Amino acid sequence: MKNILEQMQKQFFDLTVQKDIPLAGLTTLRVGGRADYLLTAEKEETFCGVLRILREENVPCLILGNGSNLLVKDGGFRGAVVRLGKEFGCIDVTEDGLYAQAGALMSVLSRTALEQGFAGLEFAQGIPGTVGGGVYMNAGAYSGEMRQVVKYVRLFDGSEIREVPGEEMAFGYRHSRAMDENALILGAAFRLEKGNKGEIEAKMRDFAQRRRDKQPLEYPSAGSFFKRPEGYFAGALIEQSGLKGKTVGGAQVSEKHAGFLINKGGATAGDFLELMKLVQAEVKKNFGVHLENEVRIVGTDE
Ligand SMILES: Cc1cc2nc3c(=O)[nH]c(=O)nc-3n(C[C@H](O)[C@H](O)[C@H](O)COP(=O)(O)OP(=O)(O)OC[C@H]3O[C@@H](n4cnc5c(N)ncnc54)[C@H](O)[C@@H]3O)c2cc1C
Repeated sequence: MKNILEQMQKQFFDLTVQKDIPLAGLTTLRVGGRADYLLTAEKEETFCGVLRILREENVPCLILGNGSNLLVKDGGFRGAVVRLGKEFGCIDVTEDGLYAQAGALMSVLSRTALEQGFAGLEFAQGIPGTVGGGVYMNAGAYSGEMRQVVKYVRLFDGSEIREVPGEEMAFGYRHSRAMDENALILGAAFRLEKGNKGEIEAKMRDFAQRRRDKQPLEYPSAGSFFKRPEGYFAGALIEQSGLKGKTVGGAQVSEKHAGFLINKGGATAGDFLELMKLVQAEVKKNFGVHLENEVRIVGTDE
């Protein structure tokens, strides 16, 4: 591994390699162990080139966006975590909307749309992830989701870069083709309608207020921990199971919104995993419904 990294650093000048890096601070849940290596790429060619080499050499890799939907286990990640550098977040205005590089934050994308008088991205304002993570997850809120606005995705499938039309991205509920193909998202173009700035801003303010009213934003979390089971709401099933406030170590079912598992302070990934299983078992027992986690669990236990 050391040789491969040295070789890559010679080949890609903008690549930063860090060893034995704690991942807790790079995720919004604030838990988890260390990564053997953290690689930061500032350029598209580097991001793709590094991934290609790591895959050829069978080095396990994890793509990291803003870490807002990731639970890293306490043993950390054996292999390389690869993320996009700060320079990989440009947003350009196009003839029918915006184009954003994968590292741009969705909140910035949404604000840029407002500034340009484009409607359609109001929903993305309070989602604390990157465009890459948002497209990968088909992130959504308040009846909006990436699927509705993505014109095409710039995607690296391991061998070549392609521009895949939104209709061919196999978007589903918190699902995209990138998951099936283990593909890298490099950027996305958004097709947006011109709108009234005042109305766009009012909608964004309303969504932000709804989040502040309903979600425990004052604690570290990964948003809704579970997917919405068909015909139900995860939070309601958890609440009706009497689990609001249920605590394991430092992890707690939020008293404000039972769909959120929060870090009350000093939680471990193990606490979250135990709480997750407890919640799943209780909801299954009471309602016969399996709660599938929306949060992506990565890494090793020890
Ligand atoms: C307070 C809070 C509120 C939230 N509200 C919402 C909400 O309303 N709606 C919603 O959908 N989500 C919500 N989330 C969850 C999260 O913000 C989204 O899932 C977001 O899309 C994740 O983006 P990220 O950049 O943080 O991805 P990460 O968490 O870093 O990664 C998530 C997955 O995407 C993959 N990935 C990331 N970038 C790339 C890339 N460039 N190419 C390929 N794969 C990539 C990762 O490997 C990982 O599997 C919320 C989270 C929090 C903490």
